[in-house]
Amino acid sequence: MLYNSTQNASEVVSAAQAIAQGISKDGGLFVPQEFPQYDEETFKALLKMDYKGRAKKVFSDFLTDFTAEEIDECVEKAYTAAKFGGENPAPMAYTQLGGTKLNILELWHGPTCAFKDMALQILPHLLTKSLKKTYDGKDAVILVATSGDTGKAALEGFKDVEHTKIIVFYPVDGVSPMQKHQMNTQEGKNVTVCAIKGNFDDAQTGVKKIFTTPAIAEKLAENNMLFSSANSINWGRLLPQIVYYISAYCDMVNDGKIAFGDKINVVVPTGNFGNILASYYASLMGLPVAKFICASNSNNVLTDFINTGVYDKNRQFYTTMSPSMDILVSSNLERLLYKLAGNSDVTTHEWMTALKTEGKYEVSDEVKAVINEKFFGGFCDDEQTQDTISRLFAQEGYLCDTHTAVAVNVYEQYVKNTGDTTPAVIASTASPYKFSKSVLEAVAPGKTLPATEFDMVDALNEITNMPVPAPLASLKDKKARFSDVTEVDAMPQYVLSALSIE
Ligand SMILES: *Cc1c(COP(=O)(O)O)cnc(C)c1O
Repeated sequence: MLYNSTQNASEVVSAAQAIAQGISKDGGLFVPQEFPQYDEETFKALLKMDYKGRAKKVFSDFLTDFTAEEIDECVEKAYTAAKFGGENPAPMAYTQLGGTKLNILELWHGPTCAFKDMALQILPHLLTKSLKKTYDGKDAVILVATSGDTGKAALEGFKDVEHTKIIVFYPVDGVSPMQKHQMNTQEGKNVTVCAIKGNFDDAQTGVKKIFTTPAIAEKLAENNMLFSSANSINWGRLLPQIVYYISAYCDMVNDGKIAFGDKINVVVPTGNFGNILASYYASLMGLPVAKFICASNSNNVLTDFINTGVYDKNRQFYTTMSPSMDILVSSNLERLLYKLAGNSDVTTHEWMTALKTEGKYEVSDEVKAVINEKFFGGFCDDEQTQDTISRLFAQEGYLCDTHTAVAVNVYEQYVKNTGDTTPAVIASTASPYKFSKSVLEAVAPGKTLPATEFDMVDALNEITNMPVPAPLASLKDKKARFSDVTEVDAMPQYVLSALSIE
């Protein structure tokens, strides 16, 4: 299987090249030229497999330049019971709210308690094998600018992976105390963590500049290294996410929640549009999905886009209690638009250029019609988010985090508006303990908040009796390894000295 750039049809690469390179030279994103088709027989076989078996099947159909042994090794190393707290890394939880059934796909049982582990635990293995095929003998240097979740998940994923080094920059005052402690206590021989005196945009701009400075690239090349990327537009982060939608469907059939062949809806709390796009890609392979319900917080640029066909990022930016969805440019939407525009690189390039220059574009009537038919967009604010957490816990004893609560709230709106009772899979993207303050406020309103993040975790545990995930519980007694803070201008020098190649 080969991959095209969304913005230049003449750019055609292998899976290994797409993963090693991350993004196309023309600025486009890599997409598979076609989607493997799963018929009844294939799905029946998948029903009998465990998560790893399902993952191996899906990976082998997309990564045709990988051997079966290579795929086996990647999957076995990534989704261990030790790392994901059980044999199924993405289990279903069944509950309801006010009579509406909720089939919750819990994607946060990995080492950093957020769904990004589902992809970032396997990406390093896919990447090292891809590098071997395309740039044999070189070590990959992963640079990450993070506002919190991605940095920690990438550090855990790349920790002690051979032939890789990872350096993470975060804004010194721009992450939560828990996120800071998660990163600064990171173990592993090949990891470096550094705060920068600036905000997230400064960190991101700094990283981009290092990537594109020829003198630095030369220095790396002299030392047999090259830069690579772990951010969410890498195909190696999207592919693992297709697996869990297929797996969730199989689990629901096996659990007697739906009949084989039944249609489902999916509900996804959305930021960069990667997670929901993966469910759409699964449907292109034959997964029977009727509606894709895209849930946003007050940064509702996607809700407006789905309703009007106009994407306009020129609007106020809100800092919310679901920070991983505080995004005004959803990068992976580009892949959906490419598909809906009939795989037209020219049209996609036009829209993306308009987004860059004017912050705005409008899709054609044909594309609007398909979006209307397949997608529902909705949003809720922080107050509604906390109200949802509170009701779900009070009525059903099910505790969810702020991002998941946005999805549940928008799903309630959807059912109310449409009367559609098709069984829905709701993606749950983080452990409630990762956002203890907002969750605690929701389930115990009026309670005086404890002083530290760890005290809030304990207080939430006392009230709810929900077990605290081991990776968060063990953090409390861990000593920080990293305390460097650097000026933005000094980031290139910091990278060279961290790699010992000044
Ligand atoms: C990253 C993230 C999201 C958004 O996912 P996208 O794939 O970017 O749409 C939602 N919830 C949590 C907890 C996240 O970390």
